[in-house]
Formats: sequence, structure tokens, C-alpha cells
Amino acid sequence: MEFHELLTFIELEENRIKNYFDSYSDTEKQILGQTVKLTEELGELCNEILAHNSLQRKQKLEIHNKENLPEEFADVIITALILAKTLDVDIIKALEKKIEKVNKRYE
Ligand SMILES: [Mg+2]
Repeated sequence: MEFHELLTFIELEENRIKNYFDSYSDTEKQILGQTVKLTEELGELCNEILAHNSLQRKQKLEIHNKENLPEEFADVIITALILAKTLDVDIIKALEKKIEKVNKRYE
């Protein structure tokens, strides 16, 4: 494959994707955005966990602020709760059910 063929394919695929997403409702677009945001926040949390435990390269550790870890946990939780609300998930009920399920594993 030549590079120009790849670029032609990318342009074609971009248009296909654009047409596909144009048919989404505002709510569906909001869900997509929130889902991407959750992934972003999860990545930031993972980064902070690695840095907090000195599991990154020296250059990154030199600029790391240990105060960021709790904030990144909060970001993930808040973003997940917003997404759950948008999807009409009863998070209290879901947590109760999950905790009960986990507890039963140890009975
Ligand atoms: Mg964050």
C-alpha cells in the first residue's frame, strides 16, 4: 500500500464516520462525549497512580504533584456518576446489588 492510498482511505472513512455520527441525537452525542471523558479521566488517574508509586520515568516524576491523586479519583467518580445519571442508572440500587453480590462470594 502506498501512503497516498492510506490517505485516500482515511478521507473516505472520515466521511463515513461523519455521516454516521450526524444521525445521532443530542443525547447520544452527550453520552458519547461523557464516555470519552470517562476514559480521559481514567487515564489521568492511572497516570497519577503510577507517578504516586514512582513507577514512571524520572523526568515525569520530577514534575509530579502528589496532591493530584485524590483529585483524579474524584474526577473518575464524578464523571462516572454523571454518565450513570444521563443513562438513567439508579446508582444507589446498582451499588447495593453489586455489594450484595460481592459479599455472597465470601459466604
Ligand atoms: Mg482529571
